[in-house]
Amino acid sequence: MLVIEEAARAERTHFRDELVRQGLLVATGVAGLFGYNEEFEDTVGRVDRQVTALGQADHPEVMRFPPTISRACIERSGYLESFPHFAGAVRSFDGDARAHRSLLRRVEEEQDWSAGFAPTDVVLTPAACYPVYDALTGTLPDEGRLVDVMSYCFRHEPSDDPARLQTFRMHEHVRLGDETAIRTWHASWLTRAQGFASDLGLDARAVVASDPFFGRAGQLLAASQRDQRLKLEIVAPIASAGCPTAIISLNCHQDHFGKSFGIQTADGSPAHTACVGFGLERIALALYSRHGFRRSAWPRHICGVLGL
Ligand code: AMP
Ligand code: ZN
Repeated sequence: MLVIEEAARAERTHFRDELVRQGLLVATGVAGLFGYNEEFEDTVGRVDRQVTALGQADHPEVMRFPPTISRACIERSGYLESFPHFAGAVRSFDGDARAHRSLLRRVEEEQDWSAGFAPTDVVLTPAACYPVYDALTGTLPDEGRLVDVMSYCFRHEPSDDPARLQTFRMHEHVRLGDETAIRTWHASWLTRAQGFASDLGLDARAVVASDPFFGRAGQLLAASQRDQRLKLEIVAPIASAGCPTAIISLNCHQDHFGKSFGIQTADGSPAHTACVGFGLERIALALYSRHGFRRSAWPRHICGVLGL
């Protein structure tokens, strides 16, 4: 087992180093935090537009939020119960001149300087769909709501895997409505998501998955999530051929967000919600992994799909 893990680790770091050597990724010295060159950004942008196009026939409302949400939003969402280990809160300096001098001294002496930083009203967005639920508190129209949202997200999971980022872009289609509408919508996106991956020539498959809930109680939540098939993932090889990575997730939240954010259907019952999240950097990385580092040499039909 250890040998397999070591081999996968070697594959991941090799792929990461090669991406940096090719100039596609710009290393920052922090695990899971990269800059991108013009071509990689262009590829991400093309994938992003494909995700928009995939949902266009349903005429979603488009919403865009900055990569921070209110402290109140994360408190209401239940994220701190389930994923405190991933959460990131924004703090800011609020001291006087003396505290400032002390701050600079600590920086100079390479000591921890964060003590002088007080909590702000914002935390880093953990998933693109969270601000949507916060915005839609109240009663839904009869047909529910459908939203296309994209945002940078933060999750504190530093890793040597270039596909496991601390800050990444997630483009989601989010549906809110009654239970039947949500179940049907969630199921219908499986075929669409598989078609999306296959159009990009990715060696992808669908799997039943679970979220990495915190702690012992989290293991029970994860087991129940799997039993009810509430989370499906489209996985594809990225850094390691043997350990494919989730590029798209199809999440059914039942009435969790409806209850937490006070969102009701027209008959007054808590709304059900589901979302389909596309990891934009992951999909771009999967393309480079599958078709090679030279984008100009990618198969013609793949270039056609991406408009290259
Ligand atoms: P989730 O909200 O966990 O269902 O994630 C939705 C999608 O975001 C996943 O299918 C991935 O494509 C992407 N994603 C999640 N975590 C990361 C990460 N640490 N780095 C890059 N992409 C991620
Ligand atoms: Zn979501």
